[in-house]
Amino acid sequence: LTDERTVRPVIAIHAGAGDHAEELKEHETECREALLEALEAARRTLGEDRDASLAVERAVMVMEDFELFNAGRGSTLCSDGTVEMSAALMRGSDRAAGAVAGARYTRNPILGARAVLESPYVLITGAEADEWAAAIGAQQVPASHFITARQQAGLREHLAAIAAEGALHNQDRATVGAVCLDERGVLAAATSTGGIRGQPPGRVGDCPIIGAGTWADLDVAVSCTGDGEAFIRSATAREVGHMVQRGVSLEAAAEAALEEVAALQASGGLIAVDREGNVAMPYITQVMPRGLWRPGQSPQAWIA
Ligand code: ASP
Repeated sequence: LTDERTVRPVIAIHAGAGDHAEELKEHETECREALLEALEAARRTLGEDRDASLAVERAVMVMEDFELFNAGRGSTLCSDGTVEMSAALMRGSDRAAGAVAGARYTRNPILGARAVLESPYVLITGAEADEWAAAIGAQQVPASHFITARQQAGLREHLAAIAAEGALHNQDRATVGAVCLDERGVLAAATSTGGIRGQPPGRVGDCPIIGAGTWADLDVAVSCTGDGEAFIRSATAREVGHMVQRGVSLEAAAEAALEEVAALQASGGLIAVDREGNVAMPYITQVMPRGLWRPGQSPQAWIA
């Protein structure tokens, strides 16, 4: 690491790997605008000479406020109709990490992760997750802010499909995440989610588990999305870092890590950036809305 701004920065974002291609097509324009706005927020942050961790935090905040993504405002609901949100933030230069799980009132749960990152602890859960976020000024809002008519209808359909088929309905996933390499070579990753639709209250997925859904070190920054349990059981995000450290290319490492997820009969995707600015965005689902920005290029977003 140097103090000089010698690296060409890059920002990549995702809005969840899933099989909800039809719904995305219906809302393609709004989703694209939200992704571009998130990239712009991150780009502006880097332009203010702030580090990669603040850039990913700001990108995630934009996506948490967008109703069609499964994080913050648009979070999917637990089986009892309540909302429980998780978020994680990690900076690779010093491996500072912070995460929250079970937040219910914090408009932008990634700010809870920021509060924890700035402390000696790594993961804070439940009511205290909201308290930690509030303590650094993160806005608290009533549960009705998150419990949207759209997600209530989604939960009703989901529960009805389970009752009828006795099996899990296709997930409409749209967890959000961002990875960034800044001009000083600092890598950072952030992920935020409402979890999976109809999850039992108290269930925590991979997003706030450092090394599973979110990871950053000196070589890579990674944000995952998909069947969280499989990502935890494969330590997916850390595995990408390990492989890159051993000399595997970022693209090959990202794909191999997803193969391990697939071997557990699960699916998902991830975004990753390495210290040279290479980006990989593989997914093994129908779709994974995603975006990319590099200096001198206009921000790009892909929906399906
Ligand atoms: N990985 C998230 C979870 O398991 C869900 C998602 O990515 O959509 O909570």
